[in-house]
Amino acid sequence: MTILYTAQWVLPVAAPPIRDGAVATRDGQILAVGPETDVRARLARLGTLETVALGRAAICPGFVNAHTHLELTAFRGRLEGLSFFDWIRTLTRLRDERMDAEDLDLSAQWGAVEAARAGVTTLADTGASAAGFRALLQSGLRGIAYQEVFGPDPMQAKKSLSGLKRRIEALRRSETELARLGVSPHAVYSVSALLFRLVIEYAERQDLPVAIHCAESQAEDDFLRSGQGPFADFLRRRGIAWTPPRVSAIRYLSDLNALRVKPLLIHAARATEEDIGLLTVHDARVAHCPKSNAKFGHGIAPASRMRQRGARVGLGTDSVASNNVCDLLDEGRFAQLVSRATQGDGHLLPAPALLQWMTLDGACALGLDNRIGTLEVGKDADLIGISLEGPHLEPAYDPVATVVTAATGRDVVLTVVKGRIIYDGQRVLTLDEERLRERLRSLAERLSPAAPEGD
Ligand SMILES: [Zn+2]
Repeated sequence: MTILYTAQWVLPVAAPPIRDGAVATRDGQILAVGPETDVRARLARLGTLETVALGRAAICPGFVNAHTHLELTAFRGRLEGLSFFDWIRTLTRLRDERMDAEDLDLSAQWGAVEAARAGVTTLADTGASAAGFRALLQSGLRGIAYQEVFGPDPMQAKKSLSGLKRRIEALRRSETELARLGVSPHAVYSVSALLFRLVIEYAERQDLPVAIHCAESQAEDDFLRSGQGPFADFLRRRGIAWTPPRVSAIRYLSDLNALRVKPLLIHAARATEEDIGLLTVHDARVAHCPKSNAKFGHGIAPASRMRQRGARVGLGTDSVASNNVCDLLDEGRFAQLVSRATQGDGHLLPAPALLQWMTLDGACALGLDNRIGTLEVGKDADLIGISLEGPHLEPAYDPVATVVTAATGRDVVLTVVKGRIIYDGQRVLTLDEERLRERLRSLAERLSPAAPEGD
């Protein structure tokens, strides 16, 4: 069936804005993009077209969120005011002690509801469970679900690897064209050098994409450069020997030969010029999560510099436990403003470049740019509609500038992934939102600080 989506504006990203535009889709792909009258004339031979008319709105490619943890959605607002180390410890303890597999699924599904409603069509999700992967399958959103593996003790490396292999093998048959698997050796302070080597070899053999949290915090720097700080103390208390390599996180990963698989480096907030050189030489990708970095006081990643030097950088929200919303428009705007503020350059990231960062550049970072990221004939029909009706969006002199400077995820009125309508402006059609909301509220009672311990 051919469907025609029409709106006051179509913003293809690959081409200038089209006034009174239309995007025609068939069998999950984009069949035509252009002024509505032209597209209708070209498709006249196909007979009556089903039309979804959005009126005063802009149709864009779906947003690509280069880093999330869907399974942690239930922690939104639960871990405020903690240091990074205490945040990780509290989160891990609550997740392991108070959440079962069903709770993680619920949490991840609620994250998918939020993403779909905010026009996020693709997610690079990392998780300690398969909940994020299942949420992708159930919601119909596109994404890569990186299965996390932990193990700072080299003695445990083989055991950790076999656990990871078992998880991947159990899930692989459920992979679809839209929902893919990857692996994520969590971070340099939580994964031994040996485990890094084993996981990277495994990923290479199995052709699985890799994501690594890296160069995020001062605590991580202290761990690597001097063997001091909370992460080093934590290992010491567990009797795990640690000899600091006295290099940056990105240099450490390079020395481990882990960059050869072009991993997605999550954060890279502390990357130096030398690190940027390393990651561009290896074509490693970066997930820039500026709001999460700012919230923890981790600083501002040199994302503009990385982009200038040719690195593939996507925008990520990180989990809502540290953000606290999954909203690429909000994230992109924050990224632009902090870049301008810190670099004293009010011309950085003009509106078209910012919209491209939220869409095509994210797709490039995930290696999906041949399928998504722009509205072009032959690409998959991952598109969204953003209403321009809100009082905060009037008047609209330039649709791209209006969208990236003033719209938020809450202005999204349509989310389509590979031709399937996931969110129609009223509700998410693939998940039972009301039931999920009810269950999430009762889970939140169990996760609340007031809840009795050990239940
Ligand atoms: Zn993360």
